[in-house]
Amino acid sequence: MPRIHQLPSSVVTKIAAGEVIERPASVVKELLENSVDAGSTRIDVEVEQGGVELLRIADDGCGIVADDLPLAFASHATSKLHSADDLFRIGTLGFRGEALASIGGVAQVTLQSRPAQQPEGAELTCHGGDLSAIRPWNGAQGTRIEVRHLFYNTPVRRKFLRTTPTELGHVSEQFTRIALSHPTLQMTLRHNTKQVYDVPRSAGLVDRIGLFFGRELRDQLYELKTAAGPAKLTGFIGDPACERGNAKMQYFFLNGRCIRDRTLTHALQEAFRGLLMVGRYAVAFLFLELPPDAVDVNVHPTKSEVRFRDSQAVYHLVFTSIRERLQRQNLMPKLQLGSAVVSGQGPVAGNQTAGGGLFTAPPPNWSLQAPPIQTARLPFPPAPPVGSPPEAMPVLPDETNDEANGIPADAPPPVPTTGHWPPATGHSLPATAHLPSSKFLQVHDAYLVMETPEGMLVIDQHALHERILFEQLKRRIREGQLEKQRLLIPEPIDLSADHAARVLEQREALAGLGLEVEDFGGGTVLLTSYPAILGRKSPVEILQAVVDHLVGKDKAPNREQMLNDLLAVMACRAAVKAGDRLTAEEIAALIAMRELAEDSHHCPHGRPTTLLVSRQELDRQFRRT
Ligand code: ADP
Ligand code: MG
Repeated sequence: MPRIHQLPSSVVTKIAAGEVIERPASVVKELLENSVDAGSTRIDVEVEQGGVELLRIADDGCGIVADDLPLAFASHATSKLHSADDLFRIGTLGFRGEALASIGGVAQVTLQSRPAQQPEGAELTCHGGDLSAIRPWNGAQGTRIEVRHLFYNTPVRRKFLRTTPTELGHVSEQFTRIALSHPTLQMTLRHNTKQVYDVPRSAGLVDRIGLFFGRELRDQLYELKTAAGPAKLTGFIGDPACERGNAKMQYFFLNGRCIRDRTLTHALQEAFRGLLMVGRYAVAFLFLELPPDAVDVNVHPTKSEVRFRDSQAVYHLVFTSIRERLQRQNLMPKLQLGSAVVSGQGPVAGNQTAGGGLFTAPPPNWSLQAPPIQTARLPFPPAPPVGSPPEAMPVLPDETNDEANGIPADAPPPVPTTGHWPPATGHSLPATAHLPSSKFLQVHDAYLVMETPEGMLVIDQHALHERILFEQLKRRIREGQLEKQRLLIPEPIDLSADHAARVLEQREALAGLGLEVEDFGGGTVLLTSYPAILGRKSPVEILQAVVDHLVGKDKAPNREQMLNDLLAVMACRAAVKAGDRLTAEEIAALIAMRELAEDSHHCPHGRPTTLLVSRQELDRQFRRT
């Protein structure tokens, strides 16, 4: 029987170090956090070979008194925490007293420090946990830490390190996070004596974003500033045009600490739903401030994960703030002739020069209020109007506030145009509506061109109608107001036995979408009712599209996602197509409905529905200016 024995402290340190120190970037993160906690105003980082050979970090913070130097390398030794109660009111980035001990255990470290108002400083080395004697040191106020040969005594760990560029990339990422979350801090990063970043004290958050991620992104940001009780959310979201293929550009900071959190990521992605293509990710730099006792940061050794006391409230704050901001922003894709389509009307940091800030008129009457549904849109007897607005968020005023633009905050929602029921044609578009005063025209039976005060709009008739139907369906389902049209004679659809089973499995979900099916046996499914709002297309065709979508998925997505996808499929099938010639009344009705849509600028798949060619752009192209 093997006997139990206590591990020597050198082994304990190495095990503990494994939790916190994974690569050079982890060292940089811990050392930068210490410098920030020390109240530094300037931090210089030098790196050689991606940080594997050398990392040097110098700050001008409060320093460490000579006698405390050995303690700095001791485990569970910290100046930032006194009692267990303090764990719930943590105001510093560090508090576990483990970083220096871990680093000192797996590298060769020199620590030099001179506290403020001390005539002289002191230095100490720690090689694989072995401390030297304290020696006097004559440097400037602050702390200087040199870490050489990381993992020199743990060769297995060292083998896991990647190439120099990869390790340097991770180091830069940690540097970036600190620079973004402390926008008055002066910081430099050098690699093999070449300068990588020089972030001046005067560069604010927007400039820092520009410095790290480029001007183009910097010029397409929208500022957020909201509060709910003691919780505050500030920062920037990128225009949907800045979308990325991964979530790396979604920065969340909680009380100054960069964190990864699924609640926050999900709230952000949900807020952008409908504005991004599937599999694309929004860009955001969000700063959440919560009372320290509303969050537990002590759940993970690297403190990058946290636990919220009320994660639903946090979700709500993030989701509604972003959603509201996106709605307030007229996300009109603008057509720049001879170049790509760019989106967005007035990015905060953008250059509002000709061709840049074209849509500066007050934004359309978008609000959080769901517009009343027009009875005229329905080919079947109408439902009572619905209009309970989603809960409004308290929104601190900022420069794009409606009120600042001359629209009173309590302005009524747009008055819907009225029409007659039933419509004269088979389209699910109302047959009659008051014509908007502006001029319009259908071209190639696919696009609508309309004059507006700013210039002209080119609308994709299918994409716009699809969006409108999608929103109507969604709203009615949410409000429990979706009317179903029963088929006098149920329509049979023949499927393979396997597909029939998959459809019947989702019977309840489909019923929630207004599609009621019954098993007829032998692979045949009977459609007994369908959503009245989609009166245009043959109901079987709509069900068939839904079935195709359902069986086309290898594994069922989550329910919410599935319903959303199916609604998009239904809306797509029922909408007018490119190639459908529309009457003047139908065009007018479509355009009138456009103004009522929550997001009339993108179809449910995220493609644009509308392009704006501005008067300025036309004048410029024709050399009139
Ligand atoms: P923690 O940051 O969790 O307290 P560390 O191991 O990172 O633990 O650091 C131990 C202690 O060393 C800190 O509590 C702090 O008092 C001191 N220290 C470390 N780095 C610095 C620095 N750059 N400036 C001033 N004091 C520092
Ligand atoms: Mg620390």
